[in-house]
Amino acid sequence: MEVNQDYELPCGRELETVWENLDEVDDHQADCVHCRTARESLLALRSATQELIDEPDPTPPDLVGRIMSAVRAEVRRGQMLDLSAAEPGSVEVSEQAVAVVLRYAADSAGNVRARRVRVRKVGVDDSGAAQVEVEVTLATRLGNTSGADTLARVRELVSAAATSRVGISLVSLNLLVEDVYEDGE
Ligand SMILES: [Zn+2]
Repeated sequence: MEVNQDYELPCGRELETVWENLDEVDDHQADCVHCRTARESLLALRSATQELIDEPDPTPPDLVGRIMSAVRAEVRRGQMLDLSAAEPGSVEVSEQAVAVVLRYAADSAGNVRARRVRVRKVGVDDSGAAQVEVEVTLATRLGNTSGADTLARVRELVSAAATSRVGISLVSLNLLVEDVYEDGE
C-alpha cells in the first residue's frame, strides 16, 4: 500500500506498520496501548469496508487511502466514537473514519456521488454505542430520472452500513442533493 504521509503513534510506531501487521501482532504491539487502540480501529474499519467491497459495485481505487488518512487525522484530533461490541471492552473508531465508510456506502448506490459526509455524535444509547446524526451531501448523475429511488437506495445503504457494519446508532440521516455531474467527470 502506498501512503504519502507517515503518521507516528505516541509510542513511535507508524500507523502503516500497525496496518501491515494487522494479522501478525508482534511483542511491542501486544503490550502497547497505542498500538492496540489503533489496531482495533483498523480491524473494525477493515471488516466494515470489506463487507462493503463485497457488494457488486466497483470499489473506488482510493478507498484504503481514504480510510487511512481519516484514521490518521482523527487519531491526531482524539475524537473517537464508541461502537457497540459483542465482547467486553468498547471498540472505538473515529468520526471521520465512520464518515469514510458511510461515504463509500452512499457512492455504491449508483447514479450519485457523495461529496461530503458529516458525522456528529449526539449521545450514547443503552448498549453503549454512539448515537450520531449524519448528513450526506450528494451530486446526482445528469440524466438520472429515478432520483427518488436513488435517494431511497442511498438511505438504505448508509443506514445498513452505520448500524450493522459500523455499529453506531443512527439517530438521523439527512440527504442533501446540491449538484449534478456528467458521466466521465
Ligand atoms: Zn506502540
